[in-house]
Amino acid sequence: MDIVGNVLPQVLKDEATEDKGEMARLQSFVGAIAVADLVKTTLGPKGMDKILKPTGPGQEMTHITVTNDGATILKSMYVENPAAKILIEISKTQDEEVGDGTTTVAVLAGELLREGEKLIQKRIHPQHVIAGWRIARDVALKRLRDISTENDINSQEFHDDLVKIARTTLSSKLITTDRDYFADLCVKAVLRLKGSSNLDYIQIIKLPGGTIRDSYLDDGFILKKQITIGCKRRIENAKILVANTAMDYDKIKIYGTKVKVNSMDKVAEIEAAEKEKMKHKVDKILKYQPTVFVNRQLIYNYPEQLLADSGITVIEHADFEGMERVAAATGAEILSTFDAPERSQQVLGHCDLIEEIMIGEEKMIKFTGCKKNEACTIVLRGASTHILDEVDRSIHDALCVLITTVKNKRVVWGGGNSEMQMAAACEEEAKKVQGKQAFAIEAFARALRQIPTIICDNGGYDSAELIQNFKVELQKGNQTCGLNMTDGTIGNMNELGVKECLRVKEQALMAASEAAELIMRVDNIVKCAPRKRERA
Ligand code: ADP
Ligand code: MG
Repeated sequence: MDIVGNVLPQVLKDEATEDKGEMARLQSFVGAIAVADLVKTTLGPKGMDKILKPTGPGQEMTHITVTNDGATILKSMYVENPAAKILIEISKTQDEEVGDGTTTVAVLAGELLREGEKLIQKRIHPQHVIAGWRIARDVALKRLRDISTENDINSQEFHDDLVKIARTTLSSKLITTDRDYFADLCVKAVLRLKGSSNLDYIQIIKLPGGTIRDSYLDDGFILKKQITIGCKRRIENAKILVANTAMDYDKIKIYGTKVKVNSMDKVAEIEAAEKEKMKHKVDKILKYQPTVFVNRQLIYNYPEQLLADSGITVIEHADFEGMERVAAATGAEILSTFDAPERSQQVLGHCDLIEEIMIGEEKMIKFTGCKKNEACTIVLRGASTHILDEVDRSIHDALCVLITTVKNKRVVWGGGNSEMQMAAACEEEAKKVQGKQAFAIEAFARALRQIPTIICDNGGYDSAELIQNFKVELQKGNQTCGLNMTDGTIGNMNELGVKECLRVKEQALMAASEAAELIMRVDNIVKCAPRKRERA
Protein backbone atom coordinates (compact mmCIF):
# COMPACT_ATOMS: atom_id res chain seq x y z
CA MET A 1 0.00 0.00 0.00
CA ASP A 2 2.72 2.40 1.02
CA ILE A 3 4.75 1.71 -2.04
CA VAL A 4 1.81 2.41 -4.26
CA GLY A 5 1.21 5.63 -2.39
CA ASN A 6 4.75 6.72 -3.03
CA VAL A 7 4.82 5.76 -6.63
CA LEU A 8 1.55 7.32 -7.64
CA PRO A 9 2.47 10.98 -7.60
CA GLN A 10 4.87 10.15 -10.38
CA VAL A 11 2.27 8.32 -12.40
CA LEU A 12 -0.19 11.16 -12.32
CA LYS A 13 0.83 14.56 -13.42
CA ASP A 14 1.20 17.60 -11.20
CA GLU A 15 -2.27 18.67 -10.31
CA ALA A 16 -4.04 15.33 -10.47
CA THR A 17 -4.54 13.35 -7.26
CA GLU A 18 -6.03 10.01 -6.44
CA ASP A 19 -7.88 8.42 -3.52
CA LYS A 20 -7.91 4.67 -3.54
CA GLY A 21 -9.94 1.77 -2.18
CA GLU A 22 -11.24 2.22 1.33
CA MET A 23 -10.47 5.92 1.44
CA ALA A 24 -12.31 6.61 -1.78
CA ARG A 25 -15.35 4.66 -0.70
CA LEU A 26 -15.39 6.26 2.71
CA GLN A 27 -15.24 9.68 1.17
CA SER A 28 -18.22 8.91 -1.06
CA PHE A 29 -20.26 7.47 1.77
CA VAL A 30 -19.59 10.39 4.03
CA GLY A 31 -20.50 12.91 1.35
CA ALA A 32 -23.72 11.21 0.29
CA ILE A 33 -24.89 10.53 3.84
CA ALA A 34 -24.17 14.11 4.86
CA VAL A 35 -26.36 15.40 2.04
CA ALA A 36 -29.16 13.00 2.89
CA ASP A 37 -28.98 13.95 6.57
CA LEU A 38 -29.27 17.56 5.67
CA VAL A 39 -32.64 17.21 3.97
CA LYS A 40 -33.86 14.46 6.28
CA THR A 41 -35.49 16.86 8.72
CA THR A 42 -37.75 18.28 6.01
CA LEU A 43 -39.37 14.92 5.23
CA GLY A 44 -43.03 14.35 5.89
CA PRO A 45 -45.97 16.52 6.94
CA LYS A 46 -44.24 17.63 10.12
CA GLY A 47 -40.91 18.28 8.43
CA MET A 48 -39.11 21.52 9.12
CA ASP A 49 -38.23 24.20 6.61
CA LYS A 50 -34.83 25.51 5.70
CA ILE A 51 -33.55 28.95 4.98
CA LEU A 52 -31.18 29.18 2.06
CA LYS A 53 -28.91 32.15 2.15
CA PRO A 54 -26.57 32.97 -0.68
CA THR A 55 -23.03 33.92 0.19
CA GLY A 56 -20.64 36.26 -1.49
CA PRO A 57 -20.56 39.96 -2.11
CA GLY A 58 -23.66 41.66 -3.46
CA GLN A 59 -25.96 38.98 -2.06
CA GLU A 60 -28.28 40.77 0.27
CA MET A 61 -30.67 39.27 2.74
CA THR A 62 -33.51 39.84 0.31
CA HIS A 63 -32.33 36.87 -1.72
CA ILE A 64 -33.00 34.30 0.96
CA THR A 65 -35.33 31.40 0.23
CA VAL A 66 -37.48 29.66 2.83
CA THR A 67 -38.40 26.20 1.64
CA ASN A 68 -39.33 22.64 2.45
CA ASP A 69 -38.74 21.34 -1.03
CA GLY A 70 -35.89 18.83 -1.20
CA ALA A 71 -34.97 19.64 -4.78
CA THR A 72 -34.83 23.36 -4.11
CA ILE A 73 -32.57 22.85 -1.09
CA LEU A 74 -30.25 20.46 -2.84
CA LYS A 75 -30.11 22.45 -6.05
CA SER A 76 -28.82 25.48 -4.24
CA MET A 77 -26.14 23.59 -2.35
CA TYR A 78 -22.58 24.06 -3.36
CA VAL A 79 -20.66 20.85 -2.79
CA GLU A 80 -17.37 19.43 -3.87
CA ASN A 81 -17.83 15.83 -2.86
CA PRO A 82 -18.63 13.78 -5.99
CA ALA A 83 -21.02 11.39 -4.25
CA ALA A 84 -22.91 14.32 -2.77
CA LYS A 85 -23.24 15.68 -6.28
CA ILE A 86 -24.77 12.42 -7.48
CA LEU A 87 -27.44 12.65 -4.79
CA ILE A 88 -28.22 16.23 -5.69
CA GLU A 89 -28.50 15.18 -9.31
CA ILE A 90 -31.03 12.39 -8.65
CA SER A 91 -33.14 14.72 -6.59
CA LYS A 92 -33.18 17.19 -9.46
CA THR A 93 -34.13 14.45 -11.90
CA GLN A 94 -36.95 13.35 -9.62
CA ASP A 95 -38.19 16.92 -9.60
CA GLU A 96 -38.15 17.13 -13.37
CA GLU A 97 -39.63 13.68 -13.97
CA VAL A 98 -42.47 13.61 -11.46
CA GLY A 99 -42.24 16.79 -9.39
CA ASP A 100 -42.49 15.20 -5.94
CA GLY A 101 -40.61 12.77 -3.75
CA THR A 102 -37.45 14.80 -4.04
CA THR A 103 -36.58 14.50 -0.37
CA THR A 104 -37.55 10.85 -0.26
CA VAL A 105 -35.18 9.93 -3.06
CA ALA A 106 -32.17 11.61 -1.46
CA VAL A 107 -32.95 10.24 1.99
CA LEU A 108 -33.48 6.72 0.66
CA ALA A 109 -30.19 6.78 -1.23
CA GLY A 110 -28.43 8.07 1.87
CA GLU A 111 -29.95 5.37 4.06
CA LEU A 112 -28.99 2.68 1.57
CA LEU A 113 -25.40 3.85 1.69
CA ARG A 114 -25.43 3.98 5.47
CA GLU A 115 -26.49 0.34 5.45
CA GLY A 116 -23.98 -0.40 2.71
CA GLU A 117 -21.17 0.98 4.79
CA LYS A 118 -22.03 -1.39 7.61
CA LEU A 119 -21.99 -4.34 5.20
CA ILE A 120 -18.59 -3.37 3.89
CA GLN A 121 -17.32 -3.19 7.44
CA LYS A 122 -18.55 -6.75 7.85
CA ARG A 123 -16.22 -7.64 4.95
CA ILE A 124 -18.91 -8.23 2.39
CA HIS A 125 -17.61 -7.31 -1.02
CA PRO A 126 -19.37 -4.39 -2.75
CA GLN A 127 -20.27 -6.65 -5.67
CA HIS A 128 -22.26 -8.91 -3.35
CA VAL A 129 -23.96 -5.88 -1.84
CA ILE A 130 -24.91 -4.63 -5.27
CA ALA A 131 -26.21 -8.02 -6.35
CA GLY A 132 -28.36 -8.22 -3.22
CA TRP A 133 -29.68 -4.72 -3.69
CA ARG A 134 -30.69 -5.52 -7.23
CA ILE A 135 -32.75 -8.47 -6.10
CA ALA A 136 -34.27 -6.36 -3.35
CA ARG A 137 -35.10 -3.55 -5.72
CA ASP A 138 -36.94 -5.85 -8.09
CA VAL A 139 -38.88 -7.45 -5.28
CA ALA A 140 -39.77 -4.07 -3.82
CA LEU A 141 -40.84 -2.76 -7.20
CA LYS A 142 -43.05 -5.76 -7.79
CA ARG A 143 -44.72 -5.37 -4.41
CA LEU A 144 -45.20 -1.67 -5.01
CA ARG A 145 -46.97 -2.34 -8.29
CA ASP A 146 -49.04 -5.11 -6.74
CA ILE A 147 -50.40 -2.91 -3.97
CA SER A 148 -51.25 -0.04 -6.31
CA THR A 149 -54.80 0.41 -7.52
CA GLU A 150 -56.33 1.93 -10.57
CA ASN A 151 -59.61 3.75 -11.07
CA ASP A 152 -61.46 4.70 -14.18
CA ILE A 153 -60.35 8.15 -15.21
CA ASN A 154 -63.85 9.58 -15.41
CA SER A 155 -65.13 8.15 -12.17
CA GLN A 156 -65.84 10.07 -9.00
CA GLU A 157 -63.33 7.84 -7.16
CA PHE A 158 -60.55 8.96 -9.45
CA HIS A 159 -61.47 12.57 -8.86
CA ASP A 160 -61.43 11.98 -5.10
CA ASP A 161 -58.07 10.28 -5.42
CA LEU A 162 -56.67 13.28 -7.21
CA VAL A 163 -57.80 15.58 -4.43
CA LYS A 164 -56.26 13.26 -1.85
CA ILE A 165 -52.98 13.05 -3.73
CA ALA A 166 -52.79 16.82 -4.02
CA ARG A 167 -53.55 17.13 -0.31
CA THR A 168 -50.80 14.67 0.58
CA THR A 169 -48.26 16.50 -1.54
CA LEU A 170 -49.25 19.83 -0.06
CA SER A 171 -49.37 18.57 3.51
CA SER A 172 -45.62 18.83 3.93
CA LYS A 173 -45.61 22.39 2.74
CA LEU A 174 -46.13 25.83 4.14
CA ILE A 175 -49.74 25.89 3.02
CA THR A 176 -50.62 22.74 4.94
CA THR A 177 -53.39 24.52 6.86
CA ASP A 178 -55.03 25.55 3.60
CA ARG A 179 -54.29 22.34 1.78
CA ASP A 180 -57.90 21.46 1.08
CA TYR A 181 -58.42 24.79 -0.59
CA PHE A 182 -55.32 24.49 -2.74
CA ALA A 183 -55.78 20.79 -3.49
CA ASP A 184 -59.17 21.60 -4.94
CA LEU A 185 -57.73 24.46 -6.93
CA CYS A 186 -54.92 22.33 -8.38
CA VAL A 187 -57.24 19.48 -9.32
CA LYS A 188 -59.57 21.87 -11.11
CA ALA A 189 -56.66 23.35 -13.03
CA VAL A 190 -55.28 19.96 -14.05
CA LEU A 191 -58.66 18.56 -15.07
CA ARG A 192 -59.06 21.48 -17.44
CA LEU A 193 -56.06 20.19 -19.35
CA LYS A 194 -58.14 17.15 -20.33
CA GLY A 195 -55.23 14.75 -20.22
CA SER A 196 -52.65 16.92 -21.90
CA SER A 197 -49.51 17.33 -19.87
CA ASN A 198 -48.62 20.81 -20.96
CA LEU A 199 -48.09 22.78 -17.78
CA ASP A 200 -47.71 25.90 -19.89
CA TYR A 201 -51.45 26.29 -20.01
CA ILE A 202 -51.59 26.72 -16.27
CA GLN A 203 -50.13 30.05 -15.50
CA ILE A 204 -49.16 31.09 -12.01
CA ILE A 205 -49.17 34.77 -11.16
CA LYS A 206 -47.72 35.91 -7.87
CA LEU A 207 -48.90 39.17 -6.39
CA PRO A 208 -47.78 40.23 -2.94
CA GLY A 209 -50.63 41.52 -0.82
CA GLY A 210 -53.72 40.00 0.77
CA THR A 211 -53.54 36.59 2.41
CA ILE A 212 -52.88 33.10 1.06
CA ARG A 213 -56.61 32.47 1.14
CA ASP A 214 -57.20 35.25 -1.37
CA SER A 215 -55.50 33.12 -4.03
CA TYR A 216 -57.85 31.88 -6.69
CA LEU A 217 -58.21 30.07 -9.97
CA ASP A 218 -59.26 32.16 -12.91
CA ASP A 219 -60.37 30.53 -16.10
CA GLY A 220 -58.74 32.12 -19.07
CA PHE A 221 -55.34 33.51 -19.52
CA ILE A 222 -53.86 36.56 -17.84
CA LEU A 223 -51.01 38.56 -19.28
CA LYS A 224 -49.02 40.80 -16.97
CA LYS A 225 -49.04 43.71 -19.38
CA GLN A 226 -51.07 46.75 -20.15
CA ILE A 227 -52.99 47.71 -23.22
CA THR A 228 -51.35 50.61 -25.00
CA ILE A 229 -52.91 53.96 -24.33
CA GLY A 230 -55.44 55.08 -26.89
CA CYS A 231 -56.68 51.60 -27.78
CA LYS A 232 -59.94 49.90 -26.94
CA ARG A 233 -59.81 48.27 -23.48
CA ARG A 234 -62.44 45.67 -24.16
CA ILE A 235 -62.55 43.57 -27.27
CA GLU A 236 -65.14 40.95 -27.94
CA ASN A 237 -64.60 38.13 -30.36
CA ALA A 238 -60.94 39.03 -30.71
CA LYS A 239 -58.79 37.99 -33.64
CA ILE A 240 -55.26 38.03 -32.36
CA LEU A 241 -52.07 38.37 -34.33
CA VAL A 242 -49.08 37.34 -32.26
CA ALA A 243 -45.76 38.56 -33.59
CA ASN A 244 -42.14 38.76 -32.77
CA THR A 245 -40.93 41.48 -35.03
CA ALA A 246 -39.12 44.82 -34.92
CA MET A 247 -41.65 47.55 -35.54
CA ASP A 248 -39.16 50.33 -35.95
CA TYR A 249 -36.87 51.37 -38.69
CA ASP A 250 -35.34 54.10 -36.60
CA LYS A 251 -32.14 52.19 -36.52
CA ILE A 252 -30.30 55.47 -36.74
CA LYS A 253 -31.61 56.56 -33.38
CA ILE A 254 -31.04 53.23 -31.74
CA TYR A 255 -27.55 52.46 -32.85
CA GLY A 256 -26.35 56.04 -32.83
CA THR A 257 -25.19 55.89 -36.42
CA LYS A 258 -23.51 59.03 -37.65
CA VAL A 259 -24.99 60.51 -40.78
CA LYS A 260 -23.55 63.64 -42.28
CA VAL A 261 -25.97 65.80 -44.17
CA ASN A 262 -25.70 69.15 -45.80
CA SER A 263 -29.06 70.48 -44.75
CA MET A 264 -31.96 69.79 -42.41
CA ASP A 265 -34.02 68.81 -45.41
CA LYS A 266 -31.98 65.68 -45.75
CA VAL A 267 -32.72 64.65 -42.17
CA ALA A 268 -36.38 65.08 -42.87
CA GLU A 269 -35.94 62.95 -45.97
CA ILE A 270 -34.33 60.14 -44.01
CA GLU A 271 -37.09 60.30 -41.44
CA ALA A 272 -39.73 60.21 -44.08
CA ALA A 273 -38.12 57.17 -45.67
CA GLU A 274 -38.07 55.38 -42.34
CA LYS A 275 -41.69 56.27 -41.73
CA GLU A 276 -42.59 54.95 -45.11
CA LYS A 277 -40.99 51.60 -44.28
CA MET A 278 -42.88 51.37 -41.01
CA LYS A 279 -46.12 52.19 -42.74
CA HIS A 280 -45.42 49.53 -45.29
CA LYS A 281 -45.04 46.92 -42.57
CA VAL A 282 -48.18 48.08 -40.78
CA ASP A 283 -50.08 47.80 -44.03
CA LYS A 284 -48.90 44.25 -44.42
CA ILE A 285 -50.06 43.46 -40.91
CA LEU A 286 -53.43 45.05 -41.55
CA LYS A 287 -53.99 42.69 -44.46
CA TYR A 288 -54.32 39.87 -41.91
CA GLN A 289 -57.31 41.73 -40.47
CA PRO A 290 -56.59 41.18 -36.79
CA THR A 291 -58.40 43.11 -34.06
CA VAL A 292 -55.58 42.70 -31.56
CA PHE A 293 -51.87 42.88 -32.21
CA VAL A 294 -49.49 41.42 -29.63
CA ASN A 295 -45.79 41.97 -30.20
CA ARG A 296 -42.85 40.73 -28.25
CA GLN A 297 -40.77 43.75 -29.14
CA LEU A 298 -41.38 47.42 -28.69
CA ILE A 299 -43.78 49.13 -30.99
CA TYR A 300 -42.84 52.72 -31.63
CA ASN A 301 -45.16 55.68 -31.54
CA TYR A 302 -45.76 55.97 -35.21
CA PRO A 303 -46.76 52.37 -36.03
CA GLU A 304 -48.70 52.26 -32.78
CA GLN A 305 -50.67 55.23 -33.87
CA LEU A 306 -51.28 53.73 -37.29
CA LEU A 307 -52.53 50.52 -35.75
CA ALA A 308 -54.67 52.28 -33.18
CA ASP A 309 -56.18 54.45 -35.90
CA SER A 310 -57.27 51.32 -37.72
CA GLY A 311 -59.09 50.21 -34.59
CA ILE A 312 -56.58 47.59 -33.54
CA THR A 313 -55.72 47.09 -29.90
CA VAL A 314 -51.97 46.95 -29.38
CA ILE A 315 -50.10 45.07 -26.67
CA GLU A 316 -46.37 45.58 -26.90
CA HIS A 317 -43.30 44.21 -25.20
CA ALA A 318 -44.95 41.03 -24.03
CA ASP A 319 -42.29 38.99 -22.24
CA PHE A 320 -41.35 35.84 -24.05
CA GLU A 321 -42.98 33.27 -21.84
CA GLY A 322 -46.15 35.30 -21.91
CA MET A 323 -46.02 35.38 -25.69
CA GLU A 324 -45.74 31.67 -26.11
CA ARG A 325 -48.61 31.18 -23.73
CA VAL A 326 -50.82 33.66 -25.52
CA ALA A 327 -50.05 31.86 -28.76
CA ALA A 328 -50.70 28.42 -27.26
CA ALA A 329 -53.89 29.39 -25.49
CA THR A 330 -55.47 31.29 -28.34
CA GLY A 331 -54.21 28.92 -31.00
CA ALA A 332 -52.14 31.55 -32.79
CA GLU A 333 -48.88 31.20 -34.63
CA ILE A 334 -46.04 33.52 -33.73
CA LEU A 335 -45.18 35.48 -36.87
CA SER A 336 -42.12 37.46 -37.79
CA THR A 337 -42.84 38.10 -41.42
CA PHE A 338 -46.14 39.16 -42.89
CA ASP A 339 -46.10 38.06 -46.47
CA ALA A 340 -48.92 35.55 -46.51
CA PRO A 341 -52.17 37.26 -45.54
CA GLU A 342 -54.09 34.45 -47.23
CA ARG A 343 -53.08 32.23 -44.27
CA SER A 344 -54.71 34.67 -41.89
CA GLN A 345 -57.33 32.11 -40.81
CA GLN A 346 -54.68 29.67 -39.65
CA VAL A 347 -52.28 32.05 -38.00
CA LEU A 348 -54.67 34.28 -36.10
CA GLY A 349 -55.60 33.30 -32.58
CA HIS A 350 -59.07 33.64 -31.23
CA CYS A 351 -60.76 34.34 -27.93
CA ASP A 352 -64.19 35.54 -26.86
CA LEU A 353 -63.16 38.47 -24.75
CA ILE A 354 -60.07 40.49 -23.96
CA GLU A 355 -60.34 43.03 -21.18
CA GLU A 356 -58.23 44.97 -18.77
CA ILE A 357 -58.65 43.86 -15.18
CA MET A 358 -57.24 44.87 -11.82
CA ILE A 359 -55.69 42.33 -9.48
CA GLY A 360 -54.65 43.96 -6.27
CA GLU A 361 -53.05 47.15 -7.40
CA GLU A 362 -51.94 45.96 -10.80
CA LYS A 363 -53.57 46.26 -14.17
CA MET A 364 -53.47 43.14 -16.32
CA ILE A 365 -54.99 41.84 -19.50
CA LYS A 366 -57.32 38.91 -19.36
CA PHE A 367 -58.16 36.61 -22.25
CA THR A 368 -61.39 34.67 -21.70
CA GLY A 369 -62.91 31.92 -23.80
CA CYS A 370 -59.71 31.08 -25.64
CA LYS A 371 -59.73 28.76 -28.62
CA LYS A 372 -57.76 26.17 -26.64
CA ASN A 373 -59.91 26.33 -23.58
CA GLU A 374 -57.47 24.45 -21.38
CA ALA A 375 -55.73 27.60 -20.29
CA CYS A 376 -56.25 28.93 -16.81
CA THR A 377 -54.44 31.06 -14.34
CA ILE A 378 -53.75 30.58 -10.67
CA VAL A 379 -53.41 33.92 -8.96
CA LEU A 380 -51.42 33.61 -5.76
CA ARG A 381 -51.67 36.21 -3.02
CA GLY A 382 -49.67 36.34 0.17
CA ALA A 383 -47.97 38.56 2.65
CA SER A 384 -44.46 38.45 1.23
CA THR A 385 -42.52 37.34 -1.80
CA HIS A 386 -40.85 34.59 0.26
CA ILE A 387 -44.21 33.09 1.09
CA LEU A 388 -45.40 33.47 -2.49
CA ASP A 389 -42.30 31.76 -3.86
CA GLU A 390 -42.74 28.80 -1.54
CA VAL A 391 -46.46 28.58 -2.32
CA ASP A 392 -45.56 28.66 -6.00
CA ARG A 393 -43.11 25.77 -5.58
CA SER A 394 -45.67 23.78 -3.60
CA ILE A 395 -48.39 24.35 -6.17
CA HIS A 396 -45.98 23.41 -8.91
CA ASP A 397 -45.20 20.13 -7.12
CA ALA A 398 -48.87 19.37 -6.73
CA LEU A 399 -49.63 20.16 -10.38
CA CYS A 400 -46.78 17.94 -11.57
CA VAL A 401 -47.90 15.04 -9.41
CA LEU A 402 -51.49 15.43 -10.57
CA ILE A 403 -50.49 15.47 -14.22
CA THR A 404 -48.39 12.36 -13.63
CA THR A 405 -51.34 10.69 -11.92
CA VAL A 406 -53.71 11.55 -14.73
CA LYS A 407 -51.27 9.92 -17.13
CA ASN A 408 -50.40 6.90 -15.03
CA LYS A 409 -53.68 6.51 -13.08
CA ARG A 410 -52.25 4.14 -10.48
CA VAL A 411 -52.14 5.18 -6.84
CA VAL A 412 -50.79 3.81 -3.54
CA TRP A 413 -51.41 4.65 0.11
CA GLY A 414 -49.11 7.24 1.68
CA GLY A 415 -48.00 7.72 5.25
CA GLY A 416 -45.19 5.21 4.93
CA ASN A 417 -47.52 2.41 3.85
CA SER A 418 -45.80 1.65 0.56
CA GLU A 419 -42.31 1.74 2.07
CA MET A 420 -43.31 -0.65 4.87
CA GLN A 421 -44.91 -3.03 2.39
CA MET A 422 -41.83 -2.98 0.19
CA ALA A 423 -39.61 -3.61 3.21
CA ALA A 424 -41.75 -6.56 4.20
CA ALA A 425 -41.47 -7.99 0.70
CA CYS A 426 -37.68 -7.69 0.83
CA GLU A 427 -37.50 -9.41 4.19
CA GLU A 428 -39.59 -12.31 2.90
CA GLU A 429 -37.27 -12.58 -0.07
CA ALA A 430 -34.14 -12.51 2.11
CA LYS A 431 -35.29 -15.70 3.77
CA LYS A 432 -35.24 -17.50 0.42
CA VAL A 433 -31.87 -16.32 -0.89
CA GLN A 434 -28.70 -18.21 -0.15
CA GLY A 435 -25.35 -16.54 0.38
CA LYS A 436 -24.17 -13.15 1.46
CA GLN A 437 -26.59 -11.32 -0.76
CA ALA A 438 -29.27 -12.00 1.81
CA PHE A 439 -27.61 -9.48 4.14
CA ALA A 440 -27.81 -6.86 1.46
CA ILE A 441 -31.49 -7.59 0.87
CA GLU A 442 -32.19 -7.21 4.57
CA ALA A 443 -30.22 -4.00 4.57
CA PHE A 444 -32.38 -2.73 1.71
CA ALA A 445 -35.48 -3.44 3.80
CA ARG A 446 -34.04 -1.51 6.74
CA ALA A 447 -33.26 1.46 4.51
CA LEU A 448 -36.82 1.50 3.18
CA ARG A 449 -38.20 1.38 6.68
CA GLN A 450 -36.16 4.43 7.56
CA ILE A 451 -38.53 6.61 5.52
CA PRO A 452 -41.53 6.16 7.87
CA THR A 453 -39.14 6.20 10.83
CA ILE A 454 -37.83 9.61 9.85
CA ILE A 455 -41.35 10.91 9.17
CA CYS A 456 -42.24 9.87 12.75
CA ASP A 457 -39.11 11.37 14.24
CA ASN A 458 -39.74 14.64 12.47
CA GLY A 459 -43.17 14.80 14.08
CA GLY A 460 -41.63 14.28 17.51
CA TYR A 461 -43.19 10.83 17.97
CA ASP A 462 -41.65 7.64 19.33
CA SER A 463 -40.59 6.04 16.07
CA ALA A 464 -39.35 2.74 17.53
CA GLU A 465 -42.75 1.95 19.02
CA LEU A 466 -44.80 3.28 16.13
CA ILE A 467 -42.86 1.41 13.45
CA GLN A 468 -43.14 -1.84 15.40
CA ASN A 469 -46.92 -1.34 15.71
CA PHE A 470 -47.02 -0.50 12.04
CA LYS A 471 -45.27 -3.79 11.20
CA VAL A 472 -47.74 -5.74 13.30
CA GLU A 473 -50.75 -4.04 11.70
CA LEU A 474 -49.45 -4.88 8.23
CA GLN A 475 -48.71 -8.44 9.28
CA LYS A 476 -52.32 -8.74 10.43
CA GLY A 477 -53.35 -7.91 6.88
CA ASN A 478 -54.47 -4.35 7.40
CA GLN A 479 -53.61 -3.05 3.94
CA THR A 480 -54.54 0.58 4.46
CA CYS A 481 -52.72 1.31 7.68
CA GLY A 482 -50.21 4.13 7.89
CA LEU A 483 -48.88 6.91 10.02
CA ASN A 484 -51.44 9.23 11.52
CA MET A 485 -49.32 12.29 11.93
CA THR A 486 -51.84 14.34 13.87
CA ASP A 487 -52.25 11.88 16.76
CA GLY A 488 -48.98 10.00 16.50
CA THR A 489 -50.67 6.63 16.05
CA ILE A 490 -51.12 4.04 13.33
CA GLY A 491 -54.23 5.08 11.46
CA ASN A 492 -56.29 4.22 8.44
CA MET A 493 -54.96 5.97 5.34
CA ASN A 494 -58.29 5.60 3.63
CA GLU A 495 -60.06 7.57 6.35
CA LEU A 496 -57.27 10.12 6.57
CA GLY A 497 -57.17 10.43 2.79
CA VAL A 498 -53.40 10.07 2.41
CA LYS A 499 -52.70 8.83 -1.09
CA GLU A 500 -49.77 9.05 -3.39
CA CYS A 501 -49.05 8.55 -7.03
CA LEU A 502 -47.40 5.25 -7.92
CA ARG A 503 -45.02 6.86 -10.41
CA VAL A 504 -43.53 9.08 -7.71
CA LYS A 505 -42.73 6.09 -5.52
CA GLU A 506 -41.46 3.99 -8.40
CA GLN A 507 -39.19 6.73 -9.62
CA ALA A 508 -37.85 7.38 -6.11
CA LEU A 509 -37.11 3.70 -5.55
CA MET A 510 -35.36 3.23 -8.87
CA ALA A 511 -33.36 6.44 -8.74
CA ALA A 512 -32.26 5.97 -5.14
CA SER A 513 -31.10 2.39 -5.65
CA GLU A 514 -29.30 3.26 -8.86
CA ALA A 515 -27.50 6.15 -7.22
CA ALA A 516 -26.54 4.03 -4.22
CA GLU A 517 -25.22 1.33 -6.54
CA LEU A 518 -23.25 3.85 -8.53
CA ILE A 519 -21.59 5.20 -5.42
CA MET A 520 -21.00 1.71 -4.04
CA ARG A 521 -19.07 0.75 -7.16
CA VAL A 522 -16.51 3.46 -6.60
CA ASP A 523 -13.10 2.37 -5.42
CA ASN A 524 -11.07 5.14 -6.84
CA ILE A 525 -11.48 8.88 -6.96
CA VAL A 526 -9.13 10.54 -9.36
CA LYS A 527 -9.03 14.27 -9.31
CA CYS A 528 -8.20 15.31 -12.81
CA ALA A 529 -6.11 18.33 -13.43
CA PRO A 530 -8.16 21.13 -14.92
CA ARG A 531 -8.15 21.22 -18.67
CA LYS A 532 -5.94 23.99 -19.88
CA ARG A 533 -6.69 26.15 -22.82
CA GLU A 534 -4.17 25.73 -25.50
CA ARG A 535 -2.51 28.83 -26.69
CA ALA A 536 -3.25 29.63 -30.24
P1 ADP B 1 -40.87 14.64 -0.68
O1 ADP B 1 -40.06 15.84 -1.04
O2 ADP B 1 -40.08 13.40 -0.81
O3 ADP B 1 -42.18 14.58 -1.35
P2 ADP B 1 -42.32 15.30 1.69
O4 ADP B 1 -41.80 16.20 2.73
O5 ADP B 1 -43.37 15.81 0.77
O6 ADP B 1 -41.10 14.77 0.88
O7 ADP B 1 -42.86 14.01 2.43
C1 ADP B 1 -43.46 12.97 1.75
C2 ADP B 1 -43.77 11.83 2.70
O8 ADP B 1 -44.67 12.23 3.71
C3 ADP B 1 -44.43 10.71 1.94
O9 ADP B 1 -43.81 9.50 2.27
C4 ADP B 1 -45.87 10.76 2.42
O10 ADP B 1 -46.45 9.47 2.44
C5 ADP B 1 -45.77 11.34 3.79
N1 ADP B 1 -46.97 12.09 4.14
C6 ADP B 1 -47.45 13.18 3.54
N2 ADP B 1 -48.59 13.60 4.11
C7 ADP B 1 -48.84 12.77 5.13
C8 ADP B 1 -49.87 12.68 6.12
N3 ADP B 1 -50.86 13.55 6.16
N4 ADP B 1 -49.81 11.67 7.01
C9 ADP B 1 -48.81 10.80 6.97
N5 ADP B 1 -47.80 10.82 6.06
C10 ADP B 1 -47.81 11.78 5.16
MG1 MG C 1 -43.75 15.91 -1.20
